[in-house]
Amino acid sequence: MSQPDFSTRAIHTGQEFDPTTGSVIPPIYQTSTYVQDGIGGFRGGYEYSRGGNPTRTSLESLLADLEGGRHGFSFASGLAGEDILLRALLAPGDHVIMGNDVYGGTHRLVDRVFVPWGIGLDTVDMTDLAAVRASIRPNTTVLWVETPSNPLMKISDIAALVEIGHAAGVLVVVDNTFASPYLQNPLALGADVVTHSTTKYLGGHSDVLGGALVTSDDEIAEKVRFLQFAVGPVSGPMDAWLTVRGIKTLAVRVERHSANAQAIAEALHGHPALDRVYYPGLDDHPGHELAARQMRGFGGMISVSLRGGVAAARAFTESTELFQLAESLGGVESLISYPSEMTHASVKGTALEVPENLVRLSVGIEGVDDLVADLLAALDRVTG
Ligand code: PLP
Repeated sequence: MSQPDFSTRAIHTGQEFDPTTGSVIPPIYQTSTYVQDGIGGFRGGYEYSRGGNPTRTSLESLLADLEGGRHGFSFASGLAGEDILLRALLAPGDHVIMGNDVYGGTHRLVDRVFVPWGIGLDTVDMTDLAAVRASIRPNTTVLWVETPSNPLMKISDIAALVEIGHAAGVLVVVDNTFASPYLQNPLALGADVVTHSTTKYLGGHSDVLGGALVTSDDEIAEKVRFLQFAVGPVSGPMDAWLTVRGIKTLAVRVERHSANAQAIAEALHGHPALDRVYYPGLDDHPGHELAARQMRGFGGMISVSLRGGVAAARAFTESTELFQLAESLGGVESLISYPSEMTHASVKGTALEVPENLVRLSVGIEGVDDLVADLLAALDRVTG
């Protein structure tokens, strides 16, 4: 049989029914430890839940399958996974090149935790391949790519970046949070490791934090497995189970997120209160052609910049009714945020500073007409 469809795998991989009761949903193994049949007699290899837990195993096998990798790992948050990955890949003296509009927390992690540990960091526009090439140094170890990027929705060419990185012996990591594995699979384009904040589309319901790493590189996987156990920022069984439950509907949710976002981007495009709509599904987005090639859809995230500057952006953010003012993204409910003071507050004053007239929308799966009406009414209120 050929490989089952994504939606089939999302529902079945690692989800065998419970053999003792027939329960269609595997139990949540809410346990910290496991009885041993004599010293070292582990049932199924489980000894202690920091090292392994069957509910986490089912999530990790599912994540690996959906990203097309051999090894999947689940963590307590996206940043916890990123931290473990960076510890696995870097040693003091190494140099990291990072996209210049990655999630602010990712930049903060490297800049405030790894740079003091002896890591060099440069940020570069990952859509400018010549600039990326020029920023590689003899001690560069990691190219950190986020596409679509947060919050400017830039699209970077993963395959081209992999070619540049690998030619210089540099590992390429892709944060695939915005696209989700339903729309984009960086490992298939040559990336070495994929990271996710599963808090977003994978969990999908704004009710659980989590992070994921997927790789097919056995050596990296071995180091990550050791650090996951030795440091311990794992997802608990309940969080792993909630994430698995979310993933089962990923395909239908992301289809709807994308369709709603496309309709909203088109409705807002050209609005007199806005000077730009950042959405890769629009023909005039500089990354439109690349996104159409590299992704299977354009996703649910949109940013807009307001002609009225900071005051208008802040007022718009606080004027919607269905779009709720909150951090985060990727849940079924629509959210609106002001990156400069929220998700990207930590990069103010750095090269990653985001425009102060920018507003970010995480488009949910509500009725699209209601969402468009909410945004247009809020823009009316702002512009008087
Ligand atoms: N990567 C991206 C693109 C994000 O948007 C976020 C969080 O907003 C993270 C990573 C960090 O994930 P978490 O908040 O689960 O630690």
